[in-house]
Amino acid sequence: MIEKWSDFGTSIFSLMTAAANRSGAINLAQGFPNFDGPQIIKDAAIRAINGSWNQYAPSIGLEELRQLIQKRYQITGNLHFDHNKEITVFSGATEALFCTFLALFKEHDEIITFSPYFDCYPAGAYAARAKLIDVPLDPKTWTFSESILVSKINPQTKAILVNTPHNPTGRVFDRSEMEMIAKIAQKYDLLVITDEVYEELIYDGLDFVRMATLPGMKDRTITISSTAKTFSLTGWKIGYICAPVRFTNEIRAVHQFTVFCSSTPLQAGICEALKMGTEYYETFRHEYTQRRDLLHNSLTDLGFKIKKSEGTYFLVADYSHVSDLPDLEFALWLTETWKVAVIPTSVFYNDQIAAQKNLKQVRFAFCKDFKTLEAGIENLRKLCTHAK
Ligand code: PMP
Ligand code: GLN
Repeated sequence: MIEKWSDFGTSIFSLMTAAANRSGAINLAQGFPNFDGPQIIKDAAIRAINGSWNQYAPSIGLEELRQLIQKRYQITGNLHFDHNKEITVFSGATEALFCTFLALFKEHDEIITFSPYFDCYPAGAYAARAKLIDVPLDPKTWTFSESILVSKINPQTKAILVNTPHNPTGRVFDRSEMEMIAKIAQKYDLLVITDEVYEELIYDGLDFVRMATLPGMKDRTITISSTAKTFSLTGWKIGYICAPVRFTNEIRAVHQFTVFCSSTPLQAGICEALKMGTEYYETFRHEYTQRRDLLHNSLTDLGFKIKKSEGTYFLVADYSHVSDLPDLEFALWLTETWKVAVIPTSVFYNDQIAAQKNLKQVRFAFCKDFKTLEAGIENLRKLCTHAK
């Protein structure tokens, strides 16, 4: 039960990274690459710092950046957003989500999302005094049931929050699932918020269906994304929202009082990123497919049960063949004893559901160089040999 902010405790990402550092473990826990994005982007930010880009940016973001974001949606979704009225730059998708919750929801409103879910969703709902309502994904397939989704809707329901590609499961919702959500949103007059921060990390040629591209949906969808994962610059915290004017106006009003504007030289650097051509995105996806395959195949050989990750840089593995420990204890033990840090998946559920489920699943991040992934796999091999 959350009654004050500190009841949320310290983020599991901070906890597991600290445990990894303390134990000298390979950090496959927090989702950040152990390599940086392209040098040309860093050079552009350095040029901006050495130039005259060190004072406040416009609150809604640098004009050039908003124009480039507009262009990217045109290319990737044939979507047109007005860069002055419908596109806003935030300090990461985290701030974008937080401002959205505060701007659009109030006490007693309900927002439906699919569990497991990213940790800042309940915090955003709490900030707005609204309620986050779970629709469980089936742990074997990571799909959801239409009837359960519909059964959660009542007069307080205001929105459905969809994260695809999905953290932590690696699921990419397919067209029929996205159309089902769209149909329900229209029938019950709900908003849809989409968290698309892993939009460029989709494997095996799977289709990425943007909610805003579905018939009748652009006008009721708030599209949230980030440059953190796409350009391997998670510490830069440059995210954005594309949304109809009536929502954008409200969300911008919150943004101007949270941070006012995001870092000016880093926005300038990201402009360079968004000028890169298709080759960058293809190479990026190709390298990540290799990382996913390496980790997936090695963990499968070691007896972990996994549903193949379709997107993101995460996969969820069942470890019940090596341990009976609850997932948080297992994650700490794995970090300290076997030198591999992971994220327990119970943190992505509300407390009651996590307790009922007695989950034996942890999340592995594969946004690491091959040498690091191989070292982690080697440590896991020792654990599995020992457990036999
Ligand atoms: N949504 C999801 C699903 C995430 O995994 C993350 C973590 N990066 C975010 C939002 C936040 O993104 P950012 O780092 O741009 O704040
Ligand atoms: N999105 C990252 C993850 O899931 C973590 C972001 C954070 O540390 N807040 O690992």
